[in-house]
Amino acid sequence: MSGKKYDVVIMGAGHNGLVAATYLAKAGRSVLMLEANDEIGGATQSVAAFPGFDARVSRYSYLVALLPDKIIKDLNLNFETISRDVSSFTPYSNVQGLNKGLYVSRNWDAKTEESFKEIDPTGNEGQAWQDFYSEVAEFAEKIAPTLLQPLQTRSELREHLNLPKTWKYLIEDPIGEVICDRFKDDIVRGVVLTDALIGTFASAYDLQANICFLYHLIGNGTGEWKVPRGGMGALVNELVRVASEAGVEIRTNQKVVAIESTTESVNVRTSAGEEFTAAHFLSNAAPGVLAQLRGKKKPDSLDGAQLKINILLKRLPQLKSGMDPKLAFAGTFHANESFTQCEGSYSEAKNGSMPAKLPIEMYCHTLTDPSILSPELSASGFHTLTLFALHTPASLFDANNETARQAALESAFASLNEYLVEPIQDVIAAIEIKTPLDLEEAIALPRGNIFHRDLQFPFREDGSQPSWGVETDDPRIFICGAGATRGGGVSGIPGHNAAMAVLSSN
Ligand SMILES: Cc1cc2nc3c(=O)[nH]c(=O)nc-3n(C[C@H](O)[C@H](O)[C@H](O)COP(=O)(O)OP(=O)(O)OC[C@H]3O[C@@H](n4cnc5c(N)ncnc54)[C@H](O)[C@@H]3O)c2cc1C
Repeated sequence: MSGKKYDVVIMGAGHNGLVAATYLAKAGRSVLMLEANDEIGGATQSVAAFPGFDARVSRYSYLVALLPDKIIKDLNLNFETISRDVSSFTPYSNVQGLNKGLYVSRNWDAKTEESFKEIDPTGNEGQAWQDFYSEVAEFAEKIAPTLLQPLQTRSELREHLNLPKTWKYLIEDPIGEVICDRFKDDIVRGVVLTDALIGTFASAYDLQANICFLYHLIGNGTGEWKVPRGGMGALVNELVRVASEAGVEIRTNQKVVAIESTTESVNVRTSAGEEFTAAHFLSNAAPGVLAQLRGKKKPDSLDGAQLKINILLKRLPQLKSGMDPKLAFAGTFHANESFTQCEGSYSEAKNGSMPAKLPIEMYCHTLTDPSILSPELSASGFHTLTLFALHTPASLFDANNETARQAALESAFASLNEYLVEPIQDVIAAIEIKTPLDLEEAIALPRGNIFHRDLQFPFREDGSQPSWGVETDDPRIFICGAGATRGGGVSGIPGHNAAMAVLSSN
């Protein structure tokens, strides 16, 4: 193979590939991006998902916490994220069978305190919450800047952070034990636990859950999840703008089908029959995709286990608890995600059954940012609702994706409807459902794993080679996507780090 020569060829034009490409082009490298799909952005696309309705939803990823301000500044991105006043709302029925809800605002306030007191009148649970999250916040603030530096070793990072108690319970002890130790109530435990499960098919007692928890809590030093103004596609549009201005060439409908590495270069062939040659090759695609193209063993990884449902609502549904839906859905709405329910659903799914009542969480983009709807839809009271179901692993869909999709949808609706005055079906204008197998089909996420592969702790083991966490066994080939160490999520971090690794390798 041979073909037109570039300094760098990147397989895939997800947000991380675009970040890598722009850093490299700004440093004077010639860069070509090859994207398999028609659309750019991978898991960060916004699309008009509902035929006949003027609404552009973030089709896959929807909230941003991990994207460092430094990357936004370095690349001069005109991209804004909006804080939500409400952190979460979790409806439940109390021991007397009354419909209640745990309300948590972003900053601890009287309404949150009152809500915790309904669960624990002693105030201990509320205090435990404040203590735990202030310890985690201290950890987050210290660790966040290290994500854009070469990897520290386990010992170096532990010493650098100098928070031995928090290190032990976040990194070494199973997070499930920690949660049960620090909190007494099953609902409160569940709200904490979900951050350890989103995107990961794990029990609360697997260390994989610790890693997931860590990434959900450390973004930008605060762990705050914000709404991207204009939807996730707004980020992609900005990245495409700065990449193009820096001279990056982006080609769509160019699936990479062959890679050959020699001592001088990496040669690449695409499904369109075109060939290219580069000094360095970056994979924005998952490590499993890269391994297959190189004839190597794919990394062991858990199945993806999330179901994503995008919904256009004619109006917000009323809640049995009497909570104003504009508050209940303004943050993250949890249903049937108590600690016990999450563990129970995990066991059901692990044993091959669709959980009878899926643990789900939802949020309403348009309560924070209505700009993704036409003014007419907004004025008529329409809203978007994103539903994310946990513990629906790809294996449950293998036998028949369509039948399992229907079963999962019914289970998710049953879960939600338990807390609504009227069934959600009555207020739905349009809907689309993405199973883990759909994610693999559409954007090549192996087994629908939303993080490309199992997440890894943000350090290297003592005694290992210095690294940015993006290297492969071939000095010309790097990972610039979510599958790198410190990848996963909308962060641009592996893109940045791969660019730095290439620039420091010459
Ligand atoms: C349903 C869902 C919800 C999520 N929610 C959130 C969220 O709210 N917040 C958050 O931070 N993260 C979320 N995530 C995770 C986050 O979106 C991803 O981890 C992140 O977007 C990955 O970005 P990336 O650029 O590394 O890879 P991707 O976005 O996966 O892009 C990789 C690109 O490579 C292309 N490609 C693959 N193979 C080839 C090939 N052979 N040739 C050419 N191109 C190829 C793909 O088509 C794709 O465009 C979610 C993910 C999913 C799927």
